Amino acid sequence: MAYRMHGGDLPQGPHRPVRESARTIVPRALGYLLPYWFPFLFILLCVLAIAGIGVLPPLLVRHIIDEAIPEKHLSLLYILAAAIVGIALVNGLLGVLQSYLNNMVSQRIMYDLRNELYTHLQGLSLRFFTANRTGEIMSRLNNDVAGIQNTVTSSLLSIISDFATVVITLTVMLALDWKLTLLGISLLPLFIIPTRLVGRRRRQLRRETQRARADLNSHMEETLNISGFLLMKVFHREPAEATRFRAHSQRLMRLEILQGLVGRWFFMSMGLFSAIGPALIYLWGGRLVIQEALTIGTIVAFVAYLGRLYGPVSSLATVYVDVQAALALFERIFEYLDTRSDIQESPSARALPAIRGAIEFEDVSFAYVPGRYALKDFTARIEAGQMAALVGPSGAGKTTFTHLLPRLYDPTSGVVRLDGVDIREVTLPSLRSHMGVVTQEPFLFHASIRENLLYGKADATQEELEAACQSAQLHEFIARLPEGYDTVVGERGYRLSGGEKQRLAIARALLKDPRVLVMDEATSHLDSLAESLIRAALERLLAGRTSVIVAQRLSTILRADVILVIDQGKLVEQGDHKELLARDGLYAQLYETQFRQQEDELLASRRL
Ligand code: ATP
Repeated sequence: MAYRMHGGDLPQGPHRPVRESARTIVPRALGYLLPYWFPFLFILLCVLAIAGIGVLPPLLVRHIIDEAIPEKHLSLLYILAAAIVGIALVNGLLGVLQSYLNNMVSQRIMYDLRNELYTHLQGLSLRFFTANRTGEIMSRLNNDVAGIQNTVTSSLLSIISDFATVVITLTVMLALDWKLTLLGISLLPLFIIPTRLVGRRRRQLRRETQRARADLNSHMEETLNISGFLLMKVFHREPAEATRFRAHSQRLMRLEILQGLVGRWFFMSMGLFSAIGPALIYLWGGRLVIQEALTIGTIVAFVAYLGRLYGPVSSLATVYVDVQAALALFERIFEYLDTRSDIQESPSARALPAIRGAIEFEDVSFAYVPGRYALKDFTARIEAGQMAALVGPSGAGKTTFTHLLPRLYDPTSGVVRLDGVDIREVTLPSLRSHMGVVTQEPFLFHASIRENLLYGKADATQEELEAACQSAQLHEFIARLPEGYDTVVGERGYRLSGGEKQRLAIARALLKDPRVLVMDEATSHLDSLAESLIRAALERLLAGRTSVIVAQRLSTILRADVILVIDQGKLVEQGDHKELLARDGLYAQLYETQFRQQEDELLASRRL
C-alpha cells in the first residue's frame, strides 16, 4: 500500500512524494543491482563455494582421527593434512575474489545512486531548497548513500552465505548422527533470543548516536562557517556556544560508551553458550564412544560443525534489523528521487530563439504558502530595452516578481510572457539562456576569480574576461592582485569587499550577455567611490538590454524608464520619478523616507 508522506522536512504541495511500502522498495532497490548481475552471480558462486568447502575440514579431521592415526596409515595422513591446507588456500583465494567483486559492485551501485540523486536534486525547484535544511540534503547524499554500501552487498551476501552455511552444515551433521545433531542445536534458541534482544537495543542506540552526531555536526557547521563565526564573535557568544557544544559532545560520548557496554554482556553470554554446546556433545558423545557406538573423529567433527553454526545463526537472528535499516536508507533516498519539481517543462515546449525582451505580467498571482499571496492580480508591461525599477516597502513582493521571470517559481494563476510567448511554453534552458540574474548577495564559489567569471561563459577567452572586468570597473583591481585572475576569492567570496563582489557578479553577468537582466540591488551602504564604480559598471551592464531591478539606490531609480511601485503584492503606481512624485502617493512617501537622504549624498558627491 502506498501512502502519503507526512512530516515537516519535505515541502507540501507538488513536491510531496509518495512513500513506498517494503514490497515496492525491495524490488526497486534490487533494480540497482541489475546492471551488475553478472559479477553479482560470480560473487554468489564464490559465497556458496566458500560455504560448501567450509564443511570439508572437520570431515578430513575425522578421517585423520578415525582412520589414518589408528591404522598408522602415513600416506593417508599426509594426503589429508595437505588437503586441509589446500582447502584453506582455495577458500582464501575465493574470499579475495569475492571481496574484490563485492567491493567493485557496491562502489558502482553507490556511484550510480549518488549521481542519480545529485542530478535529480539539480532538477528540483527553488521551493525544495527553501523548504529543506541543507544539512539534511547533504546527509542523504553522503551518509545514506554510503550506508547502502554496507547493506546492499554485505547484508544481502551475508544472509545468503549464512543461510547456505547453516543448511550445508546441518545436512552434514544430520548425515553423521541425527541424535547428536538435535542435542547440539537444542541450544541454538539460547543464541537467538539474546541476540534479538541485544540487536534491538543496539539498533536503537545506533539511531540515537546518529542523531547525536548529526546535532553535533550541524552545531559545528553553524558556528564554524564564516557567517556563523562572525555572528558568534560580534555577539560574544563563544562561551555559550562552547557550553552547547560540550553538551552535544557529552551526549554523544555517553551514547558511544553505552553502545560499547551493551555488547559486553552479550558477548560474555555468547561465550558461555558456545562452551556449553561442545561440553554437552563431549558428555553425550563421550559416553557413546565408551560404549563404542560412536567414533572419536565424529565427536571432534561435530564440535567443529557446531562452532560453525553459532555465528551464522546469530546473525540470521538479527537479519530483520539489518533489512529494516537498509529499507529505511533506501526509503530516504527514494523519497528525494520521487520528489518532482514543481517547475515542469511542457511536453510541447519549444526553444526560444533570439528575443527582443518585452516582458508582460498578466493577472499574475503567486503564493509561497497556499492562501498567502506574495503577488496578487499583478499586471504590468516592460517594453524591450526598457529599464524597470521595482520599488516598495519591505516584503511587498519585489524579489518574488524577479523569481517568476526565470521560472524559479510559476505563478499560482495568470501568465508571464516574454515577447508575447507564455514562458511555460518555452524550454527551460533556452528561457534561462536569455536571462542574467544578479542577486542581492552575489554568490561566489571558493575558487579563483577566473573560475567564478567563467561561470557566466564557460569558453570565454582571457580577452573577453578582461573586457568584462574593464566594463565592470574591476580589471584594475584584479591586475593589482599578486595572482591576478587566479586569486582565490575565499569561501563565498569573503576575501573580497562587498563592492568588489558586486562588480564581480556584474562582470559575470556581462560575460553571459543576456537579453533580459534581473537584479536585486544590494542594500548595503557603500562609500561614494565604491558607489560610483558600481554605478559605472551597472551602466555598461544595462546598456541595450531589458532590465528589472529591485532598486535600493536613488541613482538606479532616477535612471529607470519606468518605476513599478509595489505594495502588499499589488502594483499600486507606475510611471517615472517626476510623475510619481507629483502623484504624492506611496512612491512620494518612500522617497521621503528612503531615498531623500541619498539624494543629498548624491548631490554632495557630484559637487566633489
Ligand atoms: P525586501 O525588500 O524586504 O527584500 P520584497 O519586496 O523583495 O522584500 P519578497 O521577498 O518578494 O519581498 O517577499 C514577499 C512576501 O513573501 C513576504 O511576505 C515574504 O515573507 C514572503 N516570502 C518570501 N519568500 C518566501 C518563501 N520562500 N516562503 C514563504 N514565504 C516567502
